[in-house]
Amino acid sequence: MAAQIIDGKAVSAKVKEEIRQEIERDKLEIGLAVVIVGDDPASRVYVNNKKKACEVCGIKSYEYALPAETTEAQLMELIDTLNDDDKVNGILVQLPLPKHLNEEAVIARISPLKDVDAFSASNVGKIMIGNYAFLPCTPAGCIELIHSTGIDVSGKECVVIGRSNIVGKPMAMLLLHENGTVTVCHSRTKNLAEVCRRADILVAAVGRPGFVTGDMVKPGAVVIDVGINRNADGKLCGDCVFDECAKKASWITPVPGGVGPMTIAMLMKNTVMAKRIQTAK
Ligand code: NAD
Repeated sequence: MAAQIIDGKAVSAKVKEEIRQEIERDKLEIGLAVVIVGDDPASRVYVNNKKKACEVCGIKSYEYALPAETTEAQLMELIDTLNDDDKVNGILVQLPLPKHLNEEAVIARISPLKDVDAFSASNVGKIMIGNYAFLPCTPAGCIELIHSTGIDVSGKECVVIGRSNIVGKPMAMLLLHENGTVTVCHSRTKNLAEVCRRADILVAAVGRPGFVTGDMVKPGAVVIDVGINRNADGKLCGDCVFDECAKKASWITPVPGGVGPMTIAMLMKNTVMAKRIQTAK
């Protein structure tokens, strides 16, 4: 059996087109501020892709590229200004920040109404209780990709590998909200391969190329590969050994072209939501 490919590019293009139409139809004026500190090349690529998506959707993007030696006080001052700026509906601080900046404190400074990444404690808490406006972009994108297969999560065994605050934990929570039976694996998990083999839906968010091998995949499983890594040849790859996993799975996301584009589409969705919430207040 060969898996069907879940085309993240196509699904994300559809989501962005729906957003573009919504913005045009309702004549919405929406702004997203993107803050980047330092010159991490991967962060630059992500920021450029986010700006491109804004253009496609009809959202105005405001880039703030700050030098690596920016102090926390300077960054906080910028966030305060953006919090008060009515043209700015969403604020995104590209992570990781240089080591001397406290990411948690910086994220906490963003108004929860403009926290379109849904990283702040109050938005994370809302996700826990299932009463949320913003979904964290990457897990929300994964859910959309699972939906695109037509497979219902309810009652399925779901295994998430990774427990980070931005991917693993919220991913587990969203699958739980969809009535999946969820197991979260991490670096201390025993018999990881055995646990993974139980999964009808397997989500890999580890950050290690070649981590998920074909023998860890249950025949017919849906495999969502969140990892973005470089292999020994410097090529972009996920956490899964694609060819091996694709032989076992019923559906699988490629890297690139899977979860990555969806994360950005979900960011656009959250930015529109931010505008709606702010206007309704
Ligand atoms: P992270 O480093 O914060 O978390 C990795 C998780 O993997 C940890 O919770 C850890 O417990 C787990 N882990 C590490 N070694 C393990 C092992 N041997 N066995 C089991 N679990 C182990 O990373 P993150 O921010 O969650 O990102 C994970 C991956 O997803 C990275 O490759 C990152 O680049 C990628 N990512 C992709 C997108 C996207 O849009 N596609 C977005 C965010 C992150």
